[in-house]
Amino acid sequence: KAVCVTGASGFIASWLVKLLLQRGYTVRASVRDPADPKKTQHLRALEGATERLILFKANLLEGGSFDAVVEGCDGVFHTASPFYHAVTNPQAELIEPAVKGTLNVLASCKKWSVKKVVVTSSMAAVAYNGKPRTPDVVVDETWFSSPEVCEQQKQWYVLSKTLAEEAAWKFSKENGIDIVTINPAMVIGPLLQSTLNTSSAAILNLINGSSSTFPNAAFGWVNVKDVAKAHILAFELPSASGRYCLVERIVHYSELLKIVHELYPAFQLPDKCADDKPFVPVYQVCKEKFKSLGLDYIPLETSIKETIECLKEKNFISF
Ligand code: NDP
Repeated sequence: KAVCVTGASGFIASWLVKLLLQRGYTVRASVRDPADPKKTQHLRALEGATERLILFKANLLEGGSFDAVVEGCDGVFHTASPFYHAVTNPQAELIEPAVKGTLNVLASCKKWSVKKVVVTSSMAAVAYNGKPRTPDVVVDETWFSSPEVCEQQKQWYVLSKTLAEEAAWKFSKENGIDIVTINPAMVIGPLLQSTLNTSSAAILNLINGSSSTFPNAAFGWVNVKDVAKAHILAFELPSASGRYCLVERIVHYSELLKIVHELYPAFQLPDKCADDKPFVPVYQVCKEKFKSLGLDYIPLETSIKETIECLKEKNFISF
């Protein structure tokens, strides 16, 4: 069976490609520049890649760009989308590639009558709707982020994911394409690629002395292996449908640092909050849909340890 993975060189997609190859699939994968070894070497080295991984060049902003890679696939995993915060032109750098890219990929899926499409969305498209989030609140798949709230708060990446998911569902309804969305919180765990991605950098920045304070924020976290497995099961299980929130635990940064300290007592960690306001409260995220895939979450402590061990091994941490 052949499947397609867009943005294959990325953090989550690399794990997805690895697990799909392990499961015997032929993987047709898109990257922006197949000739760049930094982006492709780790993919070509995966078990099964020589026989069953085919790389294609595609860009989210080019219409028709994904036609070739999607051709002949039973399923498509659309993961490609820019994820970084230092943007000067949010519309051009984040929103257009996220939204137009999603519609481009779905248009290719329609063209080749792909049976099922798994779209990598985000908790960013779920939890930002202005409703209060406190320890007794359980966020679930019925929540949708509000583009107006994202704009007011100038949360451009969050807005890009919210609009991209909205566009995906609209296209799915209008064109009768079966889609499922996977909505992870911050994804961490071992990196397969050689470059640093944004969510792994969030952990690195806490431990490399680049900041003396920690943000007054509470985020959800989930292991990249759980995220990749959820993508595959959402494709394989005929019963899988709708959205899947993926969060092992939501913690405030102060709590995250406590876990890092327990694991690595020698690390010099920031011990002051970036502001003197009360700590932003945590909230809960429903685990039922993730569990309905037959999965159990890897604990946050393990995910943090795996991330730091891998960052050391890859020399991102030099102490
Ligand atoms: P990465 O930055 O590692 O991967 C992003 C991928 O998108 C890269 O392969 C990148 O290609 C590709 N991409 C970006 N812009 C374009 C473009 N114009 N044309 C083609 N490809 C493009 O991030 P992650 O693996 O973390 O993210 C993957 C997906 O998961 C994204 O959709 C992200 O929004 C979502 N997500 C991530 C979370 C996380 O915490 N990591 C949490 C929730 C959702 P290139 O390598 O060439 O830059």
